Amino acid sequence: MTYLFHRSLNNTPPAIVGGLGINLWDSAGNTYIDASGGAAVSCLGHGHPAVIAAIKKQVDEIAYAHTGFFTSEPAEKLAANLVQSAPNGLNHVLLVSGGSEAVEAAIKMARQYYIEKGYPQRYNIIARKQSYHGNTLGALATGGNIPRRENFLPLLIQTHHIDPCFYFRYSYDQEDEACYAERAARSLENKILELGPETVMAFVAETVVGATSGAVPAVLDYFKKIREICDRYGILLILDEVMCGMGRTGYQWAFEAEGIQPDICTIAKGLGGGYQPIGAVIATDEIYDAMKLGSGSFQHGHTYMAHPTAAAAALAVQETIQRENLLSAVKERGDYFAQMLRNSLEDLDCVGDIRGRGLLWGVELVQNKKDGNRPFSPSVNLATKLKKTAFKNGLIIYPNSGTINGRDGDHILLAPPFIISHNEIDNVIAILKNSI
Ligand code: PMP
Repeated sequence: MTYLFHRSLNNTPPAIVGGLGINLWDSAGNTYIDASGGAAVSCLGHGHPAVIAAIKKQVDEIAYAHTGFFTSEPAEKLAANLVQSAPNGLNHVLLVSGGSEAVEAAIKMARQYYIEKGYPQRYNIIARKQSYHGNTLGALATGGNIPRRENFLPLLIQTHHIDPCFYFRYSYDQEDEACYAERAARSLENKILELGPETVMAFVAETVVGATSGAVPAVLDYFKKIREICDRYGILLILDEVMCGMGRTGYQWAFEAEGIQPDICTIAKGLGGGYQPIGAVIATDEIYDAMKLGSGSFQHGHTYMAHPTAAAAALAVQETIQRENLLSAVKERGDYFAQMLRNSLEDLDCVGDIRGRGLLWGVELVQNKKDGNRPFSPSVNLATKLKKTAFKNGLIIYPNSGTINGRDGDHILLAPPFIISHNEIDNVIAILKNSI
């Protein structure tokens, strides 16, 4: 018997009762290694004393007060902390409760920006195939991942989807990366011209694609070309870093690796590290100043935005990352993780591309790499089977589908906490290989 709407009736998962570091345990006493940080959430692992202390302190003082009446010290300090770590110009933060809310807010921010500036006809959103930007209606419409959208068509916002930004080492050996970057960027320009530049509001993209494609960084110079095209046609660049932001790739903001910056950026998951539900949008002075033109403020709000306890938790998470210099740890441990993944799995017939950045890695699963087919023949549901086997073996990995053509093909995502040690990495990879 279940009363919970979110899970299927024939699947009763174990009940979680505790966790520490990279480990979790259930009510039956089974232990698990959390190699995906949930869904790239638990950046500091579980049970971190500094975060727990910050939450307790805040709850003792005041857990919640509505933003219609009050601000709070943790919310102000968290916003300042984010602005300090962001490049110049990204100076304004909206605190919300999660990733989808952040994406919705970013889209509305872009819309209000153009309305205030006197261009209400700019409403079209362009995003990429094989992208995921959240499950609320606007965010779902923005994402291009077919399986997640198709049950709900037609969606409320009409968005337009162009080619993805990635190049699979084994799949497209006919074309080099530079040509691929050029082709992928041209697909944005062609779509803008087809729709009419004066109707396009924003291009939305994940800096490193997470869930729908398995940790795929963009090809070299792709984002420079994209930024240039957006500037040429006056289109806002919204980067969705809900999964890849906040240190996950070894950079506080994943776009730092690309040498560009967005007009608006969304973050969530690792922002609060799973200790509290929280998300945020950061935007430039240009966007913020436009809000003051007509309406006087951004016409948007949620009951739980800038929640003091959530902000206190996220502030403690971010301060811990900074104090313990965990960004360089992510780079160093990420290199080791990648090397171990490749050494152990690359020769397996069912393992295709292995790619990622920092501590965000994807392993593509295929039917048989040695059959000579290029792109590889995608495996179907192998990731889900592997998730189940790994779980039985005490390892948590995040399965997903949609690697090759947006529907077939699957992969697993690995996103362990930043505090993972080399020994723990060895152990994760040994269990993973055994499970495969
Ligand atoms: N954007 C991206 C890139 C995501 O990975 C996700 C969650 N997987 C979301 C948005 C939605 O975030 P949430 O589940 O917190 O609403």
